Amino acid sequence: MDLKVFISHQDSICAECGKQLGHHAWITLAEGKGALCLSCADLDHLIFLPTGDSLQ
Ligand SMILES: [Zn+2]
Repeated sequence: MDLKVFISHQDSICAECGKQLGHHAWITLAEGKGALCLSCADLDHLIFLPTGDSLQ
């Protein structure tokens, strides 16, 4: 499964739970569904490393 995470640049609503995600929220796009919040996408456990702090 190819998951991609985006930062929304406009008001988004999670297609699964209907939560208002607002601007600059972390979202993922599910095929055939639309924007999902990270909780619904089972991604809220992920930790995003800042640029420059990734594996070398
Ligand atoms: Zn959701």
